[in-house]
Amino acid sequence: MPHARSAPVTVREVGLRDGLQILPRVLPTAHKLEWIRLAHAAGLREIEVGSFVPAKLMPQLADTAELVAFANTLPGLQASVLVPNVKGAERAIEAGAHAMLLPLSASHAHSLANMKRTPDEVVADVRRIVDLRDAKGADCRIEIGISTAFGCTIQGRVEPAEVLRLVRAVRDAGVDRIGLADTVGYADPLQVQQLFASCLDAVGDTLSCAHFHDTRGLGVANVFAAWQAGMRRFDACTGGIGGCPHAPGASGNVATEDVAYLFASMGIPTGLDFAALLALRAQVAQWLEGEPLHGAIWRAGLPKTLVPA
Ligand code: ZN
Repeated sequence: MPHARSAPVTVREVGLRDGLQILPRVLPTAHKLEWIRLAHAAGLREIEVGSFVPAKLMPQLADTAELVAFANTLPGLQASVLVPNVKGAERAIEAGAHAMLLPLSASHAHSLANMKRTPDEVVADVRRIVDLRDAKGADCRIEIGISTAFGCTIQGRVEPAEVLRLVRAVRDAGVDRIGLADTVGYADPLQVQQLFASCLDAVGDTLSCAHFHDTRGLGVANVFAAWQAGMRRFDACTGGIGGCPHAPGASGNVATEDVAYLFASMGIPTGLDFAALLALRAQVAQWLEGEPLHGAIWRAGLPKTLVPA
C-alpha cells in the first residue's frame, strides 16, 4: 500500500560511504566524526557511515568500526554499513551497526565485475547472512540494495523481470528491507515509477529505499517519481558527491540538501534543518577542496515563499 502523501520522508545520508569510496584521498577520521555529528545535528537520523570491505581494497573506509561506535552515542541515530559478503556481515554485527546493506547487482555482468559472484550466488550469501544474524540473535537489520536496477554501463539494458525476480528472492530469504538503486544514472522518471510500482506490488513495504545518482541530471526527478509510486525513504549525499568505482563514468548521488528541498517545497516533513545542511555542505567542500561538488539549492538558497513543514 502506498503511504499517505503527507507522510514524512526519511533521508539517509550516504556520503561517507558512496561519496568517499570513489575519491582517491582518505578523509581523516576526525573529519568523518565531525561529518556524522553535523549531519545528526541537521536532523538526519540514518547515516551510512562506511563499509566493511577489506581495508587494502578501500583504505578510504578503513575506520568504519570507529565511526559506528561514535554514531551509536548520538541519540536516535541509526548507523548503517555496507557489507560485501558474509565476512563483512560478521564485522557489522561485531561493530554494533543498526543495519547492514548488501548490494546485489541486477546486471549479471556488473555482479561479476563488482562482487565477483553471479546474482544468484549473492542471493545464497544473503541467506547465509540472515542465518548468521539470527543465530547470533543480533539486532541488526539486513537491507539489500538492488544495484544497476535501471541499466548498467557494462551490460546495457537490465530487464525489469530480472529485478522483480531478485526482489522476490531476497524477500523470501528473509531480509528486512530492499531498495532499488540507479547506480549509474540511467533511470528516467517513468521507468522509476513503473519499476517501483511493480516491486511494491510484489513485496509491499519490504521495498523501502530509493537510491539515485544524478549523473545525467534526472536524479531529483527520479526521487519524485519514486515518491509518487509510494516510496518514503531515500538515499542522498551531502554536496551530491559519489559514484561507483566499478561503473565507469558514474558520479554524483542526488544531493541531500536538494532532496530535503524537494520535499520541503511540497510541504512534506523530513525533519531536516536547511541552514545546518548547508553548513555541513560548506564544511565538506572545505575538507574535499579540489573535488567537484554538485547540487542546486546551495547556489540560490531557499525561496522566500517556502513555508517550513
Ligand atoms: Zn550509489
